[in-house]
This record gives sequence, structure tokens and C-alpha cells, in this order.
Amino acid sequence: MNNRRRYFLASMGLLSLAAVTAPWRSLLEDLPVPQEPAEEEHPHASEARLRELDHALKDQLYAVSHFDQDLEQDIFLPVAEQPVFQQVLRRQRKIQAHAGYANFSLMSFDEMLKYARSYSVIGAFSATEIQFMEKIFFHDAHDYGFLGEKVISSLTAKVVKKNVIKIQHSGNYLFKGESQRVFEHLKKDVGESLVLTSGIRSVVKQMYLFLAKAEKCNANLSRASRSLAPPGHSYHALGDFDVGKRNLGALNFTARFAQTEEYQKLIHLGYVSIRYTQDNYFGVRYEPWHIKVV
Ligand SMILES: [Zn+2]
Repeated sequence: MNNRRRYFLASMGLLSLAAVTAPWRSLLEDLPVPQEPAEEEHPHASEARLRELDHALKDQLYAVSHFDQDLEQDIFLPVAEQPVFQQVLRRQRKIQAHAGYANFSLMSFDEMLKYARSYSVIGAFSATEIQFMEKIFFHDAHDYGFLGEKVISSLTAKVVKKNVIKIQHSGNYLFKGESQRVFEHLKKDVGESLVLTSGIRSVVKQMYLFLAKAEKCNANLSRASRSLAPPGHSYHALGDFDVGKRNLGALNFTARFAQTEEYQKLIHLGYVSIRYTQDNYFGVRYEPWHIKVV
């Protein structure tokens, strides 16, 4: 990770100072106590720090508003790893087609490996492919410029089936309890034209979506992470969900959704929070469709 990103994260309290290297580290260490004697001796030091922070904040907001472009600091998947990346993606795509969209959205890592071994049309994941998936999961996503927290730390985390409910006509599941309650409340208040477009996503499902997005972004992992949380970082694993307007299709996942009557009704209800707002500091594009539950 470059120092400007580390500096930004540490100043936002998102990263420990230990991860920041000198000279940035020395700039940061006394940031919360600007009245120290050293400050008076070097009046320009704090100005310089503020300028750096301001610069980092601007970089961050620039990335969010230009989410779908290649930017200077972006991290790409190494060329040598692209063949294994394609193999993994192909195999996961086959599993989703074979097991069905809804089943795949709940599948755990171990279930996925077993599923692949069980069907010759899919075929077992190779050791190299498994290593690649582990690497993607355990990589520090802050490196890409994605600043959201890691909410699932285990690659083999399972969705407990008795805690979920399939939402009719959507092909998606929600957690029973708060998520289901919020969705039903929304449907009642906004109307039947409000639909669930994405519910619970297991680590495997999120990994598949992230890799598919990375493929569309020509292996630019930073650009992919501005549109889709890397695996382990999605609140879809905990209870957040996406809504859309019936028959709006893929446009539901664009700023176009914010122009619909459904969205207007939704934000005026007073009890709905959007996870990624227009100018957020998580390094994620504006997502008016993503309902924050947890
Ligand atoms: Zn979402």
C-alpha cells in the first residue's frame, strides 16, 4: 500500500500507526495533539500535515466519483496470475449455473470445493486455484484503496440455513429477523414495484462477483473494488440487501435508480439508511440501492 493511502487510513482511525512508514509516521504521531511544544518550534509542520491530509481526502473523493476509470494508483492483478484467475472464474461460473443462482448465493467455500469435485462437468479445483482464492480472500483490501472493514474473517464461514428465508420471485435469500422485517416494511410503504435485487451473499458468492467485476475491469482490482466489495468485506453477508424497481433490470445498479419514484419514496420514509452515500470515505461508488441493515 502506498504511503498516502496509509496516511489517510491512519488519520481516519482506520489503520494502526504501526503500519505507516516514516516520514509519514512521524507526521502522524502527534496529529491529535497540535499544541505540543514541538509544534510551536515548527509552525509549518502542522500546516504540511493538514495539506497532506487534505490531499489524501481529495484523492479518495476523486476515486469515488471516477469509480469506473483506471486511476494512477490502481492495483492490477499480476499478468502471471491471470490464467489461474480465469480458470477459477470459469469454474465458479459453471457451479452457479449448475447449482442455481439462489443456492450459489448461500454456498460456503467447503461446499463449493465439494460441489466441484462431485460433478465431472465442473471438475475439482486444483491446488493452484485454491491458493489463488485464498490469496484473494486474505489480501489486504486497503491496498486496492477499498477502505471498508472486513466483516467476515474466515474463508470457510457458513450461512446458517435455518436463519434464512427465500424471498418469493427474487431468487434471493434474506436473514430472518431484522433484514426480513425491514424489507417487508419497505414493500408495504413503497409498494409492490419495489423488488429485492440482491440479498445474502456468502463469501464464495462475493468472491465470484468480485472476480467477475475484475474481469470486466481488465484485471484492475482497485477499480473492481470501487464497485464491489472484495470477498469478506460485503455487508450482504451480514444482513444488508439491495432493492430496485421492478423491470428496471441492470439499471437498478446504476445512479438511474435514484431517479425512480421508488427511490424517492424510500428515502422520504425516514427509517432507511443507504450504506454508500454520494461522497463516502470508503472508496466505494454511490449505491442508492444498497440498504444498510446492520
Ligand atoms: Zn449491495
